[in-house]
Amino acid sequence: MGHEMFDFDAEFGDVVFDYCRERLSLDPVPLDYGGLIEIPPEKMAGLIRPEGRSPEAVLDFFRTTLAPSVVSIDSPGFLAFIPNAPTKNSLLFDMVVACSGLNGTSWLESSGVVIAENQALTFLADVAGMPSGSGGAFVSGGSIGNLSALTVARDVGRVKRPEFNPREVRFAVSEDAHSSVGKALHVLDVESLVVATDDHRFTRAALEAALEADPQRDNVIGVVATAGTTNAGIVDDLEGLGGFARENDLWFHVDGAYGAAALFSFTHRDLFEGIRHADSFIVDPHKWLFAPLDCCALIYRNPTVARKVLAQQASYLDVLHEGTDEHYDWNPSDFAIHLSRRARGLPFWFSLVSNGTAAYETAVQCAIDLAQRTEELIDECDYLEMVRPSSLSIVLFRRKGWSPERYLQWSHELLASQVAFVTPTKWEGETVGRMAFLHPNSTEEMVRAIIESLRG
Ligand SMILES: *Cc1c(COP(=O)(O)O)cnc(C)c1O
Repeated sequence: MGHEMFDFDAEFGDVVFDYCRERLSLDPVPLDYGGLIEIPPEKMAGLIRPEGRSPEAVLDFFRTTLAPSVVSIDSPGFLAFIPNAPTKNSLLFDMVVACSGLNGTSWLESSGVVIAENQALTFLADVAGMPSGSGGAFVSGGSIGNLSALTVARDVGRVKRPEFNPREVRFAVSEDAHSSVGKALHVLDVESLVVATDDHRFTRAALEAALEADPQRDNVIGVVATAGTTNAGIVDDLEGLGGFARENDLWFHVDGAYGAAALFSFTHRDLFEGIRHADSFIVDPHKWLFAPLDCCALIYRNPTVARKVLAQQASYLDVLHEGTDEHYDWNPSDFAIHLSRRARGLPFWFSLVSNGTAAYETAVQCAIDLAQRTEELIDECDYLEMVRPSSLSIVLFRRKGWSPERYLQWSHELLASQVAFVTPTKWEGETVGRMAFLHPNSTEEMVRAIIESLRG
């Protein structure tokens, strides 16, 4: 005789399982329409009220009214921004996670979760060449990953440079660093030395030149490199920047949220060797490592230092830090700006273990190969041209003679026709077309249809 809300309605359970089964079996997952289909406010009015409604009816409302107004990020036709292409096993296991009452906060509550998540983190750290003992936690995304890592970097840098006012320490970043890095530095109230680059790639030479020219250079405490820019897929000079940081006792942070997944690529992994110098490194499994949202791997070279800076102290939490077991202290909550957390690394771990790492290599490679094939097709086409060579899995192209408005109109029409979701971007001030490949089931036929649609 519990509370009615906690009764299990097996019949409705089956309805939900059937819905999920249907979703999972869609091949390909359709794009749907996102913001192109408006939901009039009357449709939402009064839904939340004192008396409940039949869950079947609410699910049906979701299916028919809300779901079509979502561009499905896991559709192989989703080539905008950075897509998300979770494996079937990762989605299935996410359902297990949802139903398992897991709190991924601490060792005391869920050592079985922490062990598996840490296995996945250690695997990624090994692939990236970081030393044994590296570790951290899965956080919600690259933005929180960058913020957490740079918080640690800032505090460590302030201690190392007591001669400076703590507000004066700076990070060297490139103009092409992700917006979340700028936002993190804003939150941290730390200035940056913005380094101008040649062709948008941050190199050791550019860093040295910028430092040389800056009389305040001694207050630079760290370097932020991007392993695959979001707009263009450019990998910074990780080896050069990392080497410089090591030689000069600067914190080296590598933002590989999107691109570092290409560590798994047969053709491009060499670009990432410099991550071995990183003090902190992030990669988003919810981008190109085929896990569901929201999942970023945040890895520190020296997790103890990160814990000192970020672990939350409160009397009710003391019990989490008073173990005897040598791993007892591994609380994922200690390594980022968060406390309660879902076990968001587990769907990735499950997919990695069940599919095997070789499948990750071939799947990552598919996107790079298709980007290169797309470049060939664009080169053959008289009304299109490449803006710059494809990098990793990103293609920037120009439709000769088109205005920004024309690109936008085309993008909406392409989505309305359900061929693909491709959005324009800006490159050196100019509006251009951009395709970001990621899903291994995106095809050359799809690209041909997109190219055809650009005839206009
Ligand atoms: C996507 C991205 C981020 C932000 O990651 P979120 O998971 O969206 O918060 C940071 N850096 C780079 C390079 C990215 O591509």
